[in-house]
Amino acid sequence: MLIEQPPLWLRKIYPNAIWRKSEEEKVVFLTFDDGPCKETTLRILEILDKFEAKATFFCVGENVQRTPMLFDEIKKRGHQVGNHTLRHVKGFNFSTKKYISQVERADKLIESPLFRPPHGQIKIEQYRELSKKYTIVMWDVITRDYNQKLSPEKIFGIVKKYTRNGSIIVFHDSKKAQKNVLSTLPKALQFLKNEGFQFATLN
Ligand SMILES: [Zn+2]
Repeated sequence: MLIEQPPLWLRKIYPNAIWRKSEEEKVVFLTFDDGPCKETTLRILEILDKFEAKATFFCVGENVQRTPMLFDEIKKRGHQVGNHTLRHVKGFNFSTKKYISQVERADKLIESPLFRPPHGQIKIEQYRELSKKYTIVMWDVITRDYNQKLSPEKIFGIVKKYTRNGSIIVFHDSKKAQKNVLSTLPKALQFLKNEGFQFATLN
């Protein structure tokens, strides 16, 4: 999805998914998708520690298998983890049964009540089935940090422009996002802190 802030009509297709938390409180929810990743995850954890910020990491099962120590480190430092399928698959390309099997296999590794569909792609039937067991977490702001054609300044601009009370913000702890996420995150955290926001996990 190429829009920085999903419109209301889109949110209504998946009414029980979480797009944004309370509008009343000055709290934002940082999320990091696609890790753990040896190029970025640890450095992101260090940046978060510096700001005493807690976040939620939507992990890919295969990456957890590849780098179990990084996965443990995320949890050890007090962050929350969520399920992002076993192999980062797109729901539209899979039958409901096969898609759910991807999620269940990842659940054996990740053990979280939270699920975020890769690429935001999930069929209504998959969504209904998975909603029975998981809280489906979408987002309010997508930074597009994975897009290597965008500069860190542009990514920071997206955070500044779209973040509001209760925003769930998507970054990526992936190799593709390395340059953008590592240089934007400290600036974004400083900016949001100066604006009076607190950082919380999704539970
Ligand atoms: Zn993803």
